[in-house]
Amino acid sequence: MKIALPDLSAMERFGAAIASALQPGDVIALSGGLGAGKTTLARAIIAALGHAGEVPSPSFAIVELYEPPTVRIPVVHADFYRLSHPAERDEIGLDDYRAGAALIAEWPENAGGFAHEAGCLSITLQAADDGRIAIVEGGGDWLGRMPCP
Ligand code: ADP
Ligand code: MG
Repeated sequence: MKIALPDLSAMERFGAAIASALQPGDVIALSGGLGAGKTTLARAIIAALGHAGEVPSPSFAIVELYEPPTVRIPVVHADFYRLSHPAERDEIGLDDYRAGAALIAEWPENAGGFAHEAGCLSITLQAADDGRIAIVEGGGDWLGRMPCP
């Protein structure tokens, strides 16, 4: 499925649609080069889950955890750009963070990928003539759960 995201408000609507369906254990794998819009979409999802404050880019800390009551469900925002080997995801304790939470992952391929997991929605963001385009590939029942943005 392809979704046109011509501007930031389209990104916010897309993030809200994802957030409304998001459940603990799900993974949103965000692929695309530098500047593709991964952090922008992650912020839109986290904001729509209820977080009112800033959402720092986790590229230095690698993981940021958001917990209720700030957000509807616990969500981990991870940026694996700096991982040089997938095994490092164990060193940062990713599975401990993920327990009972949803995961939003930038540069998922650097962590070995998540597409094999049943609850993984893979989104690839690309520059388009007009803003961005999202190529969405659903795992499990994801696409049925998500309302049209
Ligand atoms: P990434 O995390 O993939 O490196 P960012 O989310 O930081 O990319 O986005 C880079 C820039 O692209 C930001 O300035 C952001 O405002 C802009 N941007 C993101 N999505 C869109 C969109 N749909 N249309 C236009 N500009 C966008
Ligand atoms: Mg980013």
